[in-house]
Amino acid sequence: MVTSAYVPGAAQALLRRVYGYAAFRGPQEAIIQHVTAGGDAFVLMPTGGGKSLCYQLPAMLRPGVGIVVSPLIALMQDQVTALKALGVRAAMLNSALTGAQRRAVKAQLRTGELDLLYMAPERLMLEDTLEMLADCPLALFAIDEAHCVSQWGHDFRPEYLQLSALHERFPGIPRMALTATADAPTRREIVERLHLQDARIFVSSFDRPNIRYRIVLKDSPRQQLHRFITAEHPGDAGIVYCLSRKKTEEIAGWLLEQGLVALPYHAGLDARTRERHQERFLREDGVIMVATIAFGMGIDKPDVRFVAHLDLPKSIEAYYQETGRAGRDGLPADAWMAYGLADVAIHRQMIAGSEADDLHKRLEHRKLTVLLGLCETAGCRRQVLLQYFGDELPAPCGNCDTCLTPVETWDGTLAARKALYVVRQTRQLFGVGHLTDVLRGHDTEKVRKFRHQHLSAFGNGLELSEREWASVFRQLVAAGLLSVDMEHHGSLKLTAESVQVLQNTRMVSLRKDPLPARSTPARKKAARAEAAARLGNDPASNELFELLRAARRELAALHKVPPYVIFHDKTLLEMAELRPLSREQLRGISGVGERKLEEYGDAFLAVIEQYVRE
Ligand code: ADP
Ligand code: ZN
Repeated sequence: MVTSAYVPGAAQALLRRVYGYAAFRGPQEAIIQHVTAGGDAFVLMPTGGGKSLCYQLPAMLRPGVGIVVSPLIALMQDQVTALKALGVRAAMLNSALTGAQRRAVKAQLRTGELDLLYMAPERLMLEDTLEMLADCPLALFAIDEAHCVSQWGHDFRPEYLQLSALHERFPGIPRMALTATADAPTRREIVERLHLQDARIFVSSFDRPNIRYRIVLKDSPRQQLHRFITAEHPGDAGIVYCLSRKKTEEIAGWLLEQGLVALPYHAGLDARTRERHQERFLREDGVIMVATIAFGMGIDKPDVRFVAHLDLPKSIEAYYQETGRAGRDGLPADAWMAYGLADVAIHRQMIAGSEADDLHKRLEHRKLTVLLGLCETAGCRRQVLLQYFGDELPAPCGNCDTCLTPVETWDGTLAARKALYVVRQTRQLFGVGHLTDVLRGHDTEKVRKFRHQHLSAFGNGLELSEREWASVFRQLVAAGLLSVDMEHHGSLKLTAESVQVLQNTRMVSLRKDPLPARSTPARKKAARAEAAARLGNDPASNELFELLRAARRELAALHKVPPYVIFHDKTLLEMAELRPLSREQLRGISGVGERKLEEYGDAFLAVIEQYVRE
């Protein structure tokens, strides 16, 4: 077994020299210390927390090559490109390489010229590969996206199961598992399947404080989305999630008509088209990807400024993972969702109609109910989210919609009883529209046809408007006090729990829905100014930032890499604010390491110099 002592100065120096960062973040240093000294580790850190450094540095500090297990070629590609740009000796082995390229990588491996080698689990566990590795000094194994080993979680990949044999084949080589998804059952399963019982566990807070969560009521979703993007994210890269393939194409087409740069992405598109769209999303500035959940895993793009959901995801884990793709660079980002009663109905129906067994269906229903709790909460959204991951936030966050514009609640017990009564009196056969007509005493054709004007419920709900009744019904469905029958035109049915309300043994607290925002030019301008202020730039720095971005675009095209491989937005923002005029000053900017200073420093200094002179 190769042992090596951890020299604090050495890790710090590499962080500085290679990455251009001044200090470690959170538990990074402790993890690096532990693994460099030969320990196993289980690292739970939210997206953007800085997991990669936790295995990259020990791989460089220890003798031998670090083997990184990654589920997707795109992900490996991204990491290797970024590492090479930093001057790190990294490579990957996968089917995207030609035979000659693969032979070259293997030669580098044999002669000890690599610090990091990325591959998929199925390739690693091939007998050939294992034998080849047995002949090389190995620094460590890092299993990235380790939740893929869990059948309980939502990204299960059977190939990951083979990794359980690693500890027998290579005893004494430190193993790390890293993931950003980890509710307790997934966590237990990872430890068990990867034999990490003796590993030290490093848990960071799952909070993503730079993401602003917002859930609005769906009324005209396209317009709402368009208003949100044009008012708050003009020219920004973002992802819009939709449930169906067809809808991604419709929405992308519609956004395009509105003059935005939007592309669809779903599993039904042919591989070439998908690749081309992904490529544009990564390489161009400000592309909006309208996608199903087929898109996202392994997308390391740091400057996604917003993630919008036009349809409800299926669980809090899914919501958190999808929204987590925003703002990996730590700069302010938005998670925005439009949600309505139909979403609930569609999901319940999908679960009911699925092939899964009863236990599984119950589990899925429960997950959906927890997510609806998030949608309907009058409290801080972040507190609800973090609590789900066992991570208590002691005070409201101040950066979600309910914190920024507090929602009023009211005692809806009586209204709930009236709503449930009218459902019962009309024999559970009708949807929200007709039920509201009955409550409000409207003389409609349908009312007369079914003689509902004679019911005691008729006209018994004049104190609330139609909008308010719709809100009551929606919240009752979300709370499981009513269910929607999609087979029968969305008719509402009582549930096992309804009786508690009907018998007056259960109180119902409801939220007052805020009125839909109408955009006026003034409001749009204010939103834009607020968005800019959140990024922390004054107009002058903003101007310089745009010039630096343009320079970055040119360099990226020249070197055929995504712009963020040259420098992250965060680094450009700091340049625009501090305006360094010499290489020495530029070295002080976060994200400027030696290799990048050498390679790109002068190009950016020239832009700053010219701007300052003019
Ligand atoms: P994860 O894999 O956990 O999602 P990454 O490893 O991609 O996160 O890191 C997220 C971003 O934070 C990257 O841009 C990375 O370069 C940056 N980063 C990581 N560690 C530090 C640090 N100590 N100081 C400054 N930036 C950091
Ligand atoms: Zn909050």
